[in-house]
Amino acid sequence: MAYLSDPKETIAILQKYHFNFQKKFGQNFLIDGHVVDKIIAAAEITKDDVVLEIGPGIGTMTQRLCEEAGDVVAVEIDKNLIPILKEDTCKNYGNLRIIQGDILKLDIKEILFEYGFRPVKVVANLPYYITTPILMSLLESRLPIESITVMVQKEVAERMETGPGSKDYGALSLAVQYYAEPYLAANVPANCFMPRPNVGSAVIRLTLHDKPPVSTRDESLMFALIRASFNQRRKTLVNGLGNAAELFFTKEEITEALADLGFSPTVRGETLTLADFAKLADRLSSAQEITSRGKYPAGVTDVNAPDEIRMLYAAPIMGGRRRRKERMDDTPMMVVYAAPPLPKIFTPLQEAPSKKSKNSEYNVTCRFCGTKLSMSMTICPACGGEQNGGGTTVC
Ligand code: SAM
Repeated sequence: MAYLSDPKETIAILQKYHFNFQKKFGQNFLIDGHVVDKIIAAAEITKDDVVLEIGPGIGTMTQRLCEEAGDVVAVEIDKNLIPILKEDTCKNYGNLRIIQGDILKLDIKEILFEYGFRPVKVVANLPYYITTPILMSLLESRLPIESITVMVQKEVAERMETGPGSKDYGALSLAVQYYAEPYLAANVPANCFMPRPNVGSAVIRLTLHDKPPVSTRDESLMFALIRASFNQRRKTLVNGLGNAAELFFTKEEITEALADLGFSPTVRGETLTLADFAKLADRLSSAQEITSRGKYPAGVTDVNAPDEIRMLYAAPIMGGRRRRKERMDDTPMMVVYAAPPLPKIFTPLQEAPSKKSKNSEYNVTCRFCGTKLSMSMTICPACGGEQNGGGTTVC
């Protein structure tokens, strides 16, 4: 099978399989080999890499990824595309695994374990209808993701990359930049796709930070402040935060906190940097009393909110309205935080006291990455893999 790099080859495949585009899956297939080259170059793929491709379509980019990378895992939701990939366009690649499923529902951790939990590069021409949920779930996943190089709507790429003062600056910019460094690699016109999308597109690379560029004592409060600031972006920060349903600070408290940080009471959220929001969260959180920790609340999502706001609603804070009422009644203020449960892989290592002699202590290896483990270890400290009694005995 030749590379799928021009419209004629794509049309031939579509006709051969009587394939009908599914609008609900955001199917706009790439038909320009030069654009595929640009994506591969931006992702800096090498033979050492494991690549996760989201939505391979008929395999236009998958073919090139299989040529350039060590291993490729491609997740495609549309069942009709699987035979095309497996039996035709990508049938010759031994380093490719094709999974039929929804990327938002799959256990990616499980998949990465099969590749020794090595750092992965995500590459995709994303379905635009779920760009933000996919990116935020990857960024927040704490999985070993090195970079995410994706085709997205041009406007969304600009919002991710921009800083304070721009009209595009908002909650998405701050959330993305907390986790990664964005780099806008290329703009892509609509005629590079079939069918043509009615928006411009761009390739953006997000290189994940080893640790966030700012530190805050209270990440969830920082994101709640960011959400509230940009939910009502024309209001001053004092009014925006003071009126936000999920926050409970009085306008006086906010004015005072802003003054402490050197901001005037008329400042707007769009002028604050990520570092400013982190400092504001620290300053305001010192006024709080943390009473309990639990799970994410269900149903905090506002379905009418813009995409990035909806995603950020998944951040763990709750009880806003009830707290406001308590405050108006002058009863003691209670703040209930809902911390996200850490993924199992980050469960602190529970090492049961070993009754064995020193010599036999390290006598199994991690079944995922090969690290030597004590018999009593159920979770590998190197890769996070759960052993389930399946460690391999070393002679
Ligand atoms: N990569 C192909 C290309 O560039 O020609 C196709 C890109 S097309 C914009 C998006 C692809 O993502 C489609 O193949 C679509 O079926 C798939 N897709 C949509 N939603 C998905 C989901 N939730 N999980 C996995 N794949 C999905």
